[in-house]
Amino acid sequence: MAVADLRDSFGRPLRDLRISVTDRCNFRCTYCMPKEIFGKDFPFMPKDNIMTFEEIDRLAGIFISLGVKKIRLTGGEPLLRKNIHQLISMLSLRDVEVAMTTNGVLLPRYAPSLSAAGLDRITVSLDALDESTFATITDSGHTVAAVLAGIEAAESVGLGPIKINTVVKRDANEHEILQLVERFSDRDIAVRFIEYMDVGNTNGWSMDDVVSADEIRDVIGELSAIPANNPSDVSKNYRLPNGGEIGIISSVTEPFCGECTRARISSDGKLFTCLFSNRGLDILSLMRDGKDDTEISNLIKQIWKSREDRYSEIRSQKSSIANRVEMSYIGG
Ligand code: SAM
Ligand code: SF4
Ligand code: SF4
Repeated sequence: MAVADLRDSFGRPLRDLRISVTDRCNFRCTYCMPKEIFGKDFPFMPKDNIMTFEEIDRLAGIFISLGVKKIRLTGGEPLLRKNIHQLISMLSLRDVEVAMTTNGVLLPRYAPSLSAAGLDRITVSLDALDESTFATITDSGHTVAAVLAGIEAAESVGLGPIKINTVVKRDANEHEILQLVERFSDRDIAVRFIEYMDVGNTNGWSMDDVVSADEIRDVIGELSAIPANNPSDVSKNYRLPNGGEIGIISSVTEPFCGECTRARISSDGKLFTCLFSNRGLDILSLMRDGKDDTEISNLIKQIWKSREDRYSEIRSQKSSIANRVEMSYIGG
């Protein structure tokens, strides 16, 4: 079958792959890895269960042959993975765009090696400019100043234009929206505001905590919609009066499952076809059991063809999916 013909049961192709390279993180964002759960006794994945760079690269090759055009390395915090630049060098030899999402604090140390290895794009997460708000959300002793230094470092080695991810949570950082827009909009850095999602089981999510896309647009004021370049782009983008750009990822109130072309692989090599899945195909065990690329590719095809995921569209009709995987495990 030709690559472009692989479609799921709603006709969606497979185009994007998010690979979690570690389930560990140096932050404890309250909406993602709350300290009460992800404390010092939390059973993070043992090293032997985590995909090696060679295994990740092999899987990448299989996914690219099935239509994937963009790979995003994530986690946990991807910059905690030792020698991550070596993986980027391997992936950059393939016909695929390679991106990364990071909390940014390790960029001053690693941006030069990431850039030299061929990283195409970087997204830095930053939920607040006010140090005390940031400290409350990230709960880890890191600072806004460190993230800003990371952004500077990435820009200085040519990793721009950078995007910023800001999760907006009620009574936590909604008062930061305008400051963030003002700070970055004249610098060719687009801030993308993300509705707080009910990923995993540990963040105590409630609809009351979601600041909707409508509210975010109201706070920002005058905006003109920028037509999407790519139908699978999850962010709705807008032009500001000063020429700057922002985006809104409205997964909760304006879901985009109909355009979702994304698969995810956890750091222990399980394939998930939706952020809200509760089980994944253990591809790493198949590889380690000696299955060849064709066998693995056929299984992935089967799974993708039967994919019916559209959790965000039916969220309100479902009480909840039990035992959903955590964002830090599956890769945000
Ligand atoms: N540690 C890296 C970082 O924070 O950029 C990469 C992994 S993190 C899971 C990826 C993205 O998911 C971040 O931008 C984070 O803010 C977002 N995220 C985590 N939990 C979320 C939630 N419950 N709702 C919406 N976005 C969330
Ligand atoms: Fe870590 Fe990113 Fe989750 Fe924050 S959002 S706890 S930085 S993985
Ligand atoms: Fe894709 Fe699942 Fe999110 Fe819908 S809920 S956009 S299918 S990951």
